[in-house]
Amino acid sequence: MTSSADTHCPYCALQCAMTLTSPTGPAPAAQPGPVPVALSTAPGVPLDVQGREFPTNRGGLCRKGWTSASLLNHPGRINEPLLRGPDGIHRPIGWDQALDLAATAVRDARARYGADAVGVFGGGGLTNEKAYMLGKFARLALGTSRIDYNGRFCMSSAAAAGMRAFGVDRGLPFPVEALDSAATILMLGSNVAETMPPFVQHLKGARDAGGLVVVDPRRSATAAFTADGGGLHLQPLPGTDLALLLGISHVVIHENLVDTAYIEERTSGYGAVVRSVNAFWPERVQTITGVPAELIRETARRLAAGAREGGSYILTGRGVEQHVDGTDTATAAINLSLLLGLPGSAHSGYGTLTGQGNGQGGREHGQKADQLPGYRKITDPAARAHVAGVWGVPEELIPGPGLPAVQLLKSLGKDDGVRCLFVHASNIVVASPDATAVIEGLRSLDFLVVCDFFMSETAAEADLILPVLQWAEEDGTLTNLEGRVLRRRPALTPPPGARSELWIMARLAERLGAPSTYSEDPETVFNELRRASAGGLADYSGIDYAILDRGEAAHWPFPAGGTGTPRLFRDRFAHPDGKAVLTPVVPGRRRASSGALPAAGTAAEARPFTLITGRLLEHYQSGSQTRRVAELLAARPEARLQIHPAAAAAMDITDGAPVSVANERGEVVCRAELSTAIRAETVFLPFHFPELESANRLTEASTDPISGMPEFKSNKVWVRPVAVA
Ligand code: SF4
Repeated sequence: MTSSADTHCPYCALQCAMTLTSPTGPAPAAQPGPVPVALSTAPGVPLDVQGREFPTNRGGLCRKGWTSASLLNHPGRINEPLLRGPDGIHRPIGWDQALDLAATAVRDARARYGADAVGVFGGGGLTNEKAYMLGKFARLALGTSRIDYNGRFCMSSAAAAGMRAFGVDRGLPFPVEALDSAATILMLGSNVAETMPPFVQHLKGARDAGGLVVVDPRRSATAAFTADGGGLHLQPLPGTDLALLLGISHVVIHENLVDTAYIEERTSGYGAVVRSVNAFWPERVQTITGVPAELIRETARRLAAGAREGGSYILTGRGVEQHVDGTDTATAAINLSLLLGLPGSAHSGYGTLTGQGNGQGGREHGQKADQLPGYRKITDPAARAHVAGVWGVPEELIPGPGLPAVQLLKSLGKDDGVRCLFVHASNIVVASPDATAVIEGLRSLDFLVVCDFFMSETAAEADLILPVLQWAEEDGTLTNLEGRVLRRRPALTPPPGARSELWIMARLAERLGAPSTYSEDPETVFNELRRASAGGLADYSGIDYAILDRGEAAHWPFPAGGTGTPRLFRDRFAHPDGKAVLTPVVPGRRRASSGALPAAGTAAEARPFTLITGRLLEHYQSGSQTRRVAELLAARPEARLQIHPAAAAAMDITDGAPVSVANERGEVVCRAELSTAIRAETVFLPFHFPELESANRLTEASTDPISGMPEFKSNKVWVRPVAVA
């Protein structure tokens, strides 16, 4: 006899629906907690996973999703708090002692250096309830302004561009099924065929009609899919996306493809944008980007034709967003969409493809340095007053803006920086830019607390590790890439030693004598979140668990007494005048990385390349979870440097041979993977791997001045063969 439970995948923002089935028997008779669990499982016997019908995945799952349940009873699971001893070894301690130690570390740091000496680093995998409570816990219980999260590294630039243009940022301001009938889709810097494969079915209509245009310096799986249908693949030099977008906009303007009525009625700033693209005629853009002028013209024409004949969409991903000019690049994509009249029309639009599971909700509820719940600005007096009212505290108790993630990490261990850090749902040792400096920062802290269910590379650096629950073990909501709120119910009894982050925050708040209340019950927290979000940009006040259980399409804004909003901007944008803002942007911000030749004897035969970092089908984010799934690790056990055969041949590098990839920040040693899919002056390295294979040893921690986004996609490196003894 089997039993089953419906849930959603623990990984990316597509939030594919799945059903977990226990092959070992029915649910246990005694059910702890307020919400009964459905399943039981034996050690080493994973639950079965089946895809389930849902608008984003339509029953499909990717390899990561199929294998995700093996993490739930993984032998490497941490099941009790661990304290690092003087010998560097972590040993089990009880929860009371662990929480007392954490509270003492907070008090000590505050007493010696002030409240901002305590920092919090959150994650886009936390449920909405946890993301909300983490922001409140940091600001009221810890009294610090210094909270930010790993979404800063994901799509902060696209979020900033959306705010600038539309007055609000919701990744896809339309339901994902709307893409099915589009005539033309321009995808910039997104390899969905590997990162979220079930999404590809929504591109098939445009692909089959020859209307899919992919922009990627590599001939990615998505670019190859495009070519099958007669679509276009534009292969620009890394870091030239902004110029490319200006070139396409130039054609739209100079071939009279602009939707002039839309521009007149629904936008402001048109004249300045026209002037800003004047100098970017296609032949000039070809010399900057390497993309043939005729392809630039053809892209503009297909987008304009699509807008007239069934719909055109422009979608951006990390490839164009994770740059030091990421906000301006995303703005250029939005400008192009506005010139064509796409946002807010019935069958067209612009969107950014959120990556992390709760990357959308994670940036709405207050775990960002500059933000309060409801996607409110922390500097806005009205927002502060509203949230203070919900929290039942004087407004003055809410600190001002903190430090964006990179600056927070750079402050670690400094006299005026963070001395005691709490890390939740993030493996910053692997996923942060200039990873070597991050490790040094962590080691200089007075006290590091990491909440995790595995001994991640970051947990291994911790003074105190607090074991937490996994996705199938607790209740909570997430907001997917469409702004659709969904509920993940508990399916399985958690290990006895693990706790929810909500429980941990509640117990710590007690010990610290914090003002306000800190419930450990997800539904109670969600109801508080609803009140805090009411009237904000991301208004959840009309959503409750009962609505989610009925399967209603709960896209925010969903005000109390109202309904959800699957498609935004139909009548107005979120700026006070209701118009979208066109902002002129031009290339020219400092490109990251000096590209200095590394020391230590690598100079002789090394050659310079531009490094792109990115993702593989088999792994998710830092790989802390997926590297523990045997099937995924067997398929992709290590990082490999993708390099063009001609470039490799010039250095006598053969397929599978060891290579050194280095710059002034560090060195990676891995094997070469020869591929004609990449440009000859460019190399690609996935960032899912640690230590000597960690791509983020090479990325620069300089940031986009608007969003705080670091540079992950265009760093100078030197490659050389490594002699094998
Ligand atoms: Fe999970 Fe994303 Fe794969 Fe869907 S596409 S199964 S949500 S990792």
